[in-house]
Amino acid sequence: MKVVTRFAPSPTGHLHLGGARTAIFNWLFTRHHQGKFYLRIEDTDTLRSKQEYTDSILASMNWLGLDWDGEPVYQSERFDLYNQYVDRLLESGHAYWCSCSPEDVEKMREEARARGENPKYNGCCRDRGLRPSPGNPEKMVVRLRAPQTGITVLNDMVKGEIVFNNAELDDMVLRRPDGAPTYNMAVVVDDIEMGMTHVIRGDDHVPNTPKQILIYQALGAELPIFGHVPMILGPDKQKLSKRHGATAVIDYEKEGLLPEALVNYLTLLGWSHGNDEFFGLEDLVREFANGRLNPSPSAFDPEKLAWLNHEHMKTRSSQELAELVAPFIKALELPLPAPEKLLPLVEMLRERAQTLKDLAAAMKFMLIDAAQMEYDQKALEKTITPESRAHLAALRSLFDGLPEFDASGLHDALHGYVEGNGLKFKQVGPPLRVALVGALAGPDLCQVMSLLGKEQTLARLTKFQ
Ligand code: GLU
Repeated sequence: MKVVTRFAPSPTGHLHLGGARTAIFNWLFTRHHQGKFYLRIEDTDTLRSKQEYTDSILASMNWLGLDWDGEPVYQSERFDLYNQYVDRLLESGHAYWCSCSPEDVEKMREEARARGENPKYNGCCRDRGLRPSPGNPEKMVVRLRAPQTGITVLNDMVKGEIVFNNAELDDMVLRRPDGAPTYNMAVVVDDIEMGMTHVIRGDDHVPNTPKQILIYQALGAELPIFGHVPMILGPDKQKLSKRHGATAVIDYEKEGLLPEALVNYLTLLGWSHGNDEFFGLEDLVREFANGRLNPSPSAFDPEKLAWLNHEHMKTRSSQELAELVAPFIKALELPLPAPEKLLPLVEMLRERAQTLKDLAAAMKFMLIDAAQMEYDQKALEKTITPESRAHLAALRSLFDGLPEFDASGLHDALHGYVEGNGLKFKQVGPPLRVALVGALAGPDLCQVMSLLGKEQTLARLTKFQ
């Protein structure tokens, strides 16, 4: 079977993690089956939909590497199409005009509630045979003549079979008094027109699905296969929301995550493949159908995401990381070194960073001037003594006299000094590190010095004399 899917965001905000995960599942499923993956912008809510959000969602999709087929479809441009389908339902008797006001309907709902029944429209206009006349066209809505008995079954590819009682379902509105389609009507028309074979979306849409199935049936259209993936929860097991911190894809891009790491991590939130965790994009496409979609929700774990990001960083060349880290260096308002100077810094520090932003921050001490150095106070107290100052002064003149200021020459000089004076390395190494790096931990000292260069190394040592 040729697979056709879509991602259908509402442009009322940036692409958030839940939406991204839905997009990823559709994309992986489709690319695995070599089908078509479409993008549909559900912008019928003209008050809340904004072009800037559409642009941002498309940019996040691009950043994640989720390409789509054809041009995005905008629901706001398709009202005529939706109305043609509503007209078809009116003609076939599957829909009817209703003149009840919102207040009337609210009253019916209250009455139903008072009787202990499901609050719904009572079918008052079902058999009135109303037709719009030039005098009242905009006052009426069109409703679906929904079956009042029997069941509607959703065979969900993630959740299995879910049965709904038709008696619980409403004669839902398909077209509003202003002629605009309702959400469920537009979605069904588009999914039919765009030839969807599979509709994979968040399980917050489960309540919409029986309504949509009734519209398909009224239109005599074949149902797609539905798959509802559970919501992503926060670390506290509540639905992931802004109060848990960053929830938009763009935030993670700014935090210096690699897109393939975010795709890998979000895929694991709802999909599993034995105990395997590390997947590149191509591995995911290949293995997606061999894994399992998890029907219960998973909690977002920022530490695991950071770990996976580090694992993905390992697979990038230093050259690639150097290009990727450049904007983060600029964002920290640090001077961006020339490419041939940046590359060895990346090589020296890449193991110490979980994100590109970390990597940029880890480079700070290498990019600033001796005068701007900041020192860890505890490290200073622990290592800088009259005795260690004397060692630093001696090392300064030793290094100053070296014919070649390279890592191996520096190494020989440093160790020659320690051994020649009957010292232990810990009497010299830690103060030297604090003077050069500002802290007790850091990369290999001789490498640091050779990359800082003679002038900068000596300037940092001079500060401790
Ligand atoms: N526009 C809906 C949303 O953003 C998706 C609808 C669907 O996938 O059917 O939640």
